[in-house]
Amino acid sequence: MQTVVSGIRPTGKLHLGNYFGAVKNFLMMQENYNSYFFIADIHSLTTHPTPEDLHGSVRQVLAEYLAMGLDPEKCALFIQSDVPEITELYTYMNMNAYLGELERSASFKDKIRTQKNNVNAGLLTYPVLMAVDILIHKADFVPVGKDQEQHLEMTRQFGNRFNRMYDVEFFPEPQAFSFTGELVKVPGLTGQGKMSKSGGAGDAVFFDEDDDVTRKKIMRAKTDAGPQEPNSPHSEEIANLFDLMRLVCEESVVQQYVDAYADCSIRYGDMKKQLAEDMLTLIAPIRERIREVKADDAYLAKAAKIGAEKARESASRTMREVREIIGFKKFY
Ligand code: AMP
Repeated sequence: MQTVVSGIRPTGKLHLGNYFGAVKNFLMMQENYNSYFFIADIHSLTTHPTPEDLHGSVRQVLAEYLAMGLDPEKCALFIQSDVPEITELYTYMNMNAYLGELERSASFKDKIRTQKNNVNAGLLTYPVLMAVDILIHKADFVPVGKDQEQHLEMTRQFGNRFNRMYDVEFFPEPQAFSFTGELVKVPGLTGQGKMSKSGGAGDAVFFDEDDDVTRKKIMRAKTDAGPQEPNSPHSEEIANLFDLMRLVCEESVVQQYVDAYADCSIRYGDMKKQLAEDMLTLIAPIRERIREVKADDAYLAKAAKIGAEKARESASRTMREVREIIGFKKFY
């Protein structure tokens, strides 16, 4: 079976964009691949979170991914810092990563601009740690968005460089996972681009929030002045609302509102009420499960332990060979 690796940023609560854009893909992968999904808590240290915030965020995403259906028996869902082999390989791979190439990485250039006062060495070597996350499980595939393609290319480069340096064929070249069909992009409620946590208040609908909060956000979603003449094109705001409807409403219901827009009889208030109720039908049972899982310390501990054991088994297998290849041979 082929191996897939994907990281999860511990950024707190998950929203609809995360669900349709990431979690649903993970649910498919765990059925068909040898899957490693890790919560990237070591990566997040570059932003200097407090210990409480870090642990709270890791706990939240762990509980949410489990509640949404990731099954510790089917995949390896693990916390990055539970696998010390990762930091060990990171140390070795850093010796063969060059300043010039690291400085050229788009994500580093971006961070230099956005966090001028915290340009730490961890940011510079971020692509090395990302490469290690993938190489340590000898992954065949990594699901990546456009902005991550450069990191995957660097991963191949670091793996190949290691192979050449020691004259071995050890690390395979990971490929971008190609999804059949279009990648889903879930729009936000503020009418600007995709749904995101940082998109401002009211942009994202989170699973772990109360029904009334969700209803209010949707009722306040940006619309326009309404269709001025029959069959006029949808403005960006309205197109976004229809995109959201297509994710959660029955096709016939969406069609009813498309037709109402076309003949100018649409009432945005009704449309949003419909959207809110259908969204809550999807969200409510998942939210109940998130709250159950979050309160179940024993289950969280068991899931994290199973994940760590699976990941360490694979990582330690790789590291035994890496140490031999490098020339760290035991005298005892
Ligand atoms: P982030 O919240 O930026 O850490 O993203 C976590 C995962 O969710 C990534 O795989 C993103 O591609 C996915 N994701 C986040 N927001 C959206 C969105 N609005 N539409 C589709 N996918 C998303």
